Amino acid sequence: MTTVEQLQYSDDFVRALPGDPRPDNQRRQVHKALYSRVEPTAVPAPELLVLVPEVAALVGLEPSPELVQVLAGNRIVPGMAPYAACYGGHQFGQWAGQLGDGRAITLGEVTHAGETLELQLKGAGPTPYSRTADGRAVLRSSLRELVCSEAMFHLGVPTTRALSLVTTGQPVMRDMLYDGHPAHEPGAIVCRVAPSFLRFGNFELPTSRDDKATLQTLVDYTIAKFYPGMSVAEMFAEVAQRTAWMVCEWMRVGFVHGVMNTDNMSILGLTIDYGPYGWLEPFDLTWTPNTTDAANRRYRFGNQPTIAHWNLAQLAKALLPVCADPEPLRRVIDRWPTQFSELYRGTMLRKLGLNGRGDTLDEDDGLLTSLGELMTTLEVDYTLFFRRLATPERITEACYGEVAPVERAMLDRWLARYLARAKHEGLSETERARRICEVNPIYVPRNYLVQEVIDATARGDRAQLLQLIDVLRDPYTERPGLAHFAGKRPEWARHKVGCSMLSCSS
Ligand code: AMP
Ligand code: MG
Repeated sequence: MTTVEQLQYSDDFVRALPGDPRPDNQRRQVHKALYSRVEPTAVPAPELLVLVPEVAALVGLEPSPELVQVLAGNRIVPGMAPYAACYGGHQFGQWAGQLGDGRAITLGEVTHAGETLELQLKGAGPTPYSRTADGRAVLRSSLRELVCSEAMFHLGVPTTRALSLVTTGQPVMRDMLYDGHPAHEPGAIVCRVAPSFLRFGNFELPTSRDDKATLQTLVDYTIAKFYPGMSVAEMFAEVAQRTAWMVCEWMRVGFVHGVMNTDNMSILGLTIDYGPYGWLEPFDLTWTPNTTDAANRRYRFGNQPTIAHWNLAQLAKALLPVCADPEPLRRVIDRWPTQFSELYRGTMLRKLGLNGRGDTLDEDDGLLTSLGELMTTLEVDYTLFFRRLATPERITEACYGEVAPVERAMLDRWLARYLARAKHEGLSETERARRICEVNPIYVPRNYLVQEVIDATARGDRAQLLQLIDVLRDPYTERPGLAHFAGKRPEWARHKVGCSMLSCSS
């Protein structure tokens, strides 16, 4: 463990790939380059709210007095080579052209214990890609990113990590609901950590500009670094598989990303760019927390697989210029929905504590279909319902509102069918309960819990934030005294801004 000054920095990305020759920080279109060198803009009064010790340990970092200055972007350590990446993307189904890191700045890569990780500040000031915006981030969205990305990691979902949360002492103007009421909010910066923040959009942009040379360089780099020995088609197949797994894992834990634009899809199959995400509380396949997407609900919970598939098709198109033969890419795309369905089916069976077994295929499909109907009719809390399957006598705790007798009968019929199926697999009740609790968390960063913490933190009370992060470190073990973190959404949170309604404003 060393201080931030003594870490082993490398600048592979910057050295290996073509950069923007212009050194200034004017907003612009950047051609034939994959990044622009840019330094963070200093902030007046940085304060370190959270340093996540296990992420610090990942990069071998120990706290020191100068750390906050680095995590706030006020100080660059020799060896760092800060840059903003150049990428494009499809936003809400439309090609949006160049986007790029408008407020994220990678400080550098750190190698520790044989692993290389990027340190990236989000909200560190304008870059050539900031377009019309300010390059900053507000406390509420930064806190949401840190809490949720760490929670996802501990839930076992592939994700980028978060090292720190710093407040800047500089207010940021935001129109939180895009309804003509802008106001000042506290500014903050999260330091994100991942092997790479490359997105589908990094590959789409050069292709959209007929710039095969830049695309080829990026693809060669990505393969050499992250998919060694693979052909482009093999890499694509692997990305498609990882993406399927990631989305399946989102569905397992009830996570709705909210903005699955292609610039928010990681080439490593990691959950990336936590914005107006949400956690499914009452089971509802059509639910989205993102008010910016309210009209079409493109990114609703149940549509995430379809969108992942669509996004993969955009990535396939982007890779075509460097693929000798398009057929293998087409095959991956064609087979993906079937492969996803199989994976998803397996995931849902695991949530029930069951193994998929050949002789019960039809019964399992029937069981899962009727489960969907049951959860919708009874308006169950998604997290609590699966968890309480371990203790069926407590299952109605998971229902919002009263359970009518006809609903109770429906529930009992389904439970009987389910328990018979578990018995058919030879599962003891103890074993079934153990499996349920391994796959179904009891603590997730429920929308209203995070909002409570945001309110407390904005008032200067940091204890709740630290407690929430701590509870979410062990999401599968129910512990005494933590009932508050396992409860259904209270009625006051049903329509509250931040709890069930979020916009892209961040
Ligand atoms: P997002 O919806 O957060 O993935 O952002 C989409 C694009 O907008 C990305 O290119 C971001 O870098 C950019 N962006 C979002 N917020 C800001 C901001 N406050 N300042 C500059 N760029 C931003
Ligand atoms: Mg983004």
